[in-house]
Amino acid sequence: MASQRAQPLFRDGIMILPLQSGAAETGGAQPPVSASPGEAPSTLSPAPSPSPEELFYLLDRFAEAWLDGCRRVVMLKGAVDPAWSAGAAQFNALLTSRGLEPMALRRVSEHSKAARTMRALFAETATPSRRGGFLGALSGLPSEDGADPAFDTRPALTRIQSVEGEGEDEGALFAIVPRIDPARCSGCDACVRICPPEALTLIEAASEASPEAPPEAPPGTSPDISAYHVHPESCDACGLCESVCEDAAIRLETMARAPDDIPLKAWSCRACGVAVHAPEAAAESRAQDGLCRICARTGHHKNLFVVLP
Ligand code: SF4
Ligand code: SF4
Repeated sequence: MASQRAQPLFRDGIMILPLQSGAAETGGAQPPVSASPGEAPSTLSPAPSPSPEELFYLLDRFAEAWLDGCRRVVMLKGAVDPAWSAGAAQFNALLTSRGLEPMALRRVSEHSKAARTMRALFAETATPSRRGGFLGALSGLPSEDGADPAFDTRPALTRIQSVEGEGEDEGALFAIVPRIDPARCSGCDACVRICPPEALTLIEAASEASPEAPPEAPPGTSPDISAYHVHPESCDACGLCESVCEDAAIRLETMARAPDDIPLKAWSCRACGVAVHAPEAAAESRAQDGLCRICARTGHHKNLFVVLP
């Protein structure tokens, strides 16, 4: 569990990353971590890679510190928890892709005086003082529905990721990106309905039915839905969407850019008459028989045709 990880310490606006479990006394070689703010994280992620849930937890802690005004991160070379050190570089990548000031990353030598001080600090049960200066650091970041930033209850990482990226070509990076495979997705909407922070939504189309809709669709029955849209800034990696998807059509990517919308095609089931939709990539085959996913699976429409000749 991510919440069971050792916690960083905060001293005088500096974030001190936790020591690796079991390595605090012995030390040990760690993957290189850039001391240059904003450097790309491609060579910085040590194995094993954290799960999406764990990565969200780690980066949200960095986001809280950053909103708190913290701009310096210190880690003990050879003993820092590699997940935290990689998270520092990944968090900086999120910041720089939005034109926000990155945190300065500093590695402290194992034999330095600073290292002894850090070990002494971690030997104490220090209480993080993340909230100091919190309100002052919020200015300039977007708030929810134009509300006072001091009362924005969204996770710190969500707030930072809500800042639009710089540059039209690449766009901003996101810690967690839910990605739907349109070739596998049946259009059941289960993931959309279950997502707590509404990171998955349906985009409504114009009211007129699409001329591309299958011929079985009676006039006026095409729902005003045209695409799945993903809001990766809001995803908190809870994993409910992956759990609920019977088609294994959605997965959580880490440190990726926002996916394109997935266009939907709508029709009415020729057996039960319910209005359904599916990604265009998969709708062609599904719509050819004119059945919804339930009728196609159960075949009960055949029984109906027998009972009601
Ligand atoms: S990704 Fe899965 S749960 Fe979501 S709409 Fe597609 S099939 Fe349904
Ligand atoms: S992981 Fe959770 S928050 Fe993210 S899209 Fe899936 S259901 Fe929504």
